[in-house]
Amino acid sequence: MVDFSLPATAEHFRQELRSWLGANLTDDVVAAGRRMADDHAFAVVRDWNRRMADARWLAISWPEEYGGRGATGLEQLVYMEETVRARCPLPVNVIGLNNIAPAIMQFGTDEQKRSLLPRMVRADDVWCQGMSEPEAGSDLASLRTTARRDGDGFVVSGQKIWTSLGHRADYCQLFVRTDPEATKHQGISCLVVDMRLPGIDARPVPTLNGETHFAEVFFDEVRVPSGALLGPLHGGWGVATTTLSHERANAARLYAEQQVRLRELADDLGAAAPPGGEVDPVTLRRLGELATRADLLEVLCKRSVSAALHGGDTFASASLAKTVWAELGQDIAALGFDTLGADGADGRWAQLRLSARSLSIAGGTTQVNKNVTAQRVLGLPRR
Ligand SMILES: Cc1cc2nc3c(=O)[nH]c(=O)nc-3n(C[C@H](O)[C@H](O)[C@H](O)COP(=O)(O)OP(=O)(O)OC[C@H]3O[C@@H](n4cnc5c(N)ncnc54)[C@H](O)[C@@H]3O)c2cc1C
Repeated sequence: MVDFSLPATAEHFRQELRSWLGANLTDDVVAAGRRMADDHAFAVVRDWNRRMADARWLAISWPEEYGGRGATGLEQLVYMEETVRARCPLPVNVIGLNNIAPAIMQFGTDEQKRSLLPRMVRADDVWCQGMSEPEAGSDLASLRTTARRDGDGFVVSGQKIWTSLGHRADYCQLFVRTDPEATKHQGISCLVVDMRLPGIDARPVPTLNGETHFAEVFFDEVRVPSGALLGPLHGGWGVATTTLSHERANAARLYAEQQVRLRELADDLGAAAPPGGEVDPVTLRRLGELATRADLLEVLCKRSVSAALHGGDTFASASLAKTVWAELGQDIAALGFDTLGADGADGRWAQLRLSARSLSIAGGTTQVNKNVTAQRVLGLPRR
């Protein structure tokens, strides 16, 4: 039996957060978090992010000077569990806070840190991340969008795709090729681009379920000032792969999220059963199997968090946890859809069935993650 109990200080932190969420998180905000493609819902969550940030309940792992509270690793774990269980919406700038901010903290100038980070936490600025291109996804280093030096700045041309929030963003962390003669991983630079500059055209791309979360973004001779460079010129690959993060317990979100989803499915199945009747045994067996996998995911995630706290290899364990999370999320959505039908819980399971397809693609595909697991967890040779 694994003992997951936490020290009293972490549990005290849990109570403090729980009572703040209890006093501030409303049903309207929770509902808005489920409809983020909608303009009004997006505005509600943005406003909620400001309130959280002002109370120092967002980006809690960050240093205080940038808007965080320097939370410990265990406090971060508790934070993930509690915010997910309370159905607190993901921050508008979730990619910014988790992926872009660490790069700004590691590579940014003092001016970039001071001007960009506090506004990112409060969602005063909305951020997107321009990595993927039509011919560069898993193999990011194949990217072709160029930035040529021009006087004191750069001129950017090319196209990005699947850019989450690209159509809403104020800033983009953009990866561009600055030295076309260099080998693939060299000659890439990272720019912080103001999305209101002339020559930028962000066209929303609707997804399978009719919602619009991302865009394709075109850059046509966009003039970007030299102060936009983040990190060394031609050193963008290091910026893209930066692992410096004050956030050491992100993996906790994965198991907490699927446990909540499974609980909701169990509740919906119970509510849909005929009066006095029971959920059929085949469905119950599928539910039980998913619950076991959710427990396994918790162990995997906590192993990853533990590695992060003790300086171990988090990349490999996080890749494995992400694969298990994606497959579990897809199977929970499939069971909800199969058993409750397209209209079950007001069509929620049909929506999830469709949107869950992206879980095994976004942020690293399952196939690529399995390669990482094969090489770094199982020690198998590269092909
Ligand atoms: C919801 C969502 C949000 C996203 N948000 C962003 C964003 O904000 N910014 C951004 O830049 N990108 C974003 N993306 C893009 C995402 O990062 C890419 O879709 C992903 O990296 C895969 O790239 P690709 O679509 O070009 O597929 P490809 O890389 O072309 O892959 C196609 C298929 O080949 C497989 N494959 C590729 N290489 C290997 C390999 N070496 N071994 C085995 N199989 C392989 C893949 O698993 C996949 O099945 C988002 C995607 C989604 C779904």
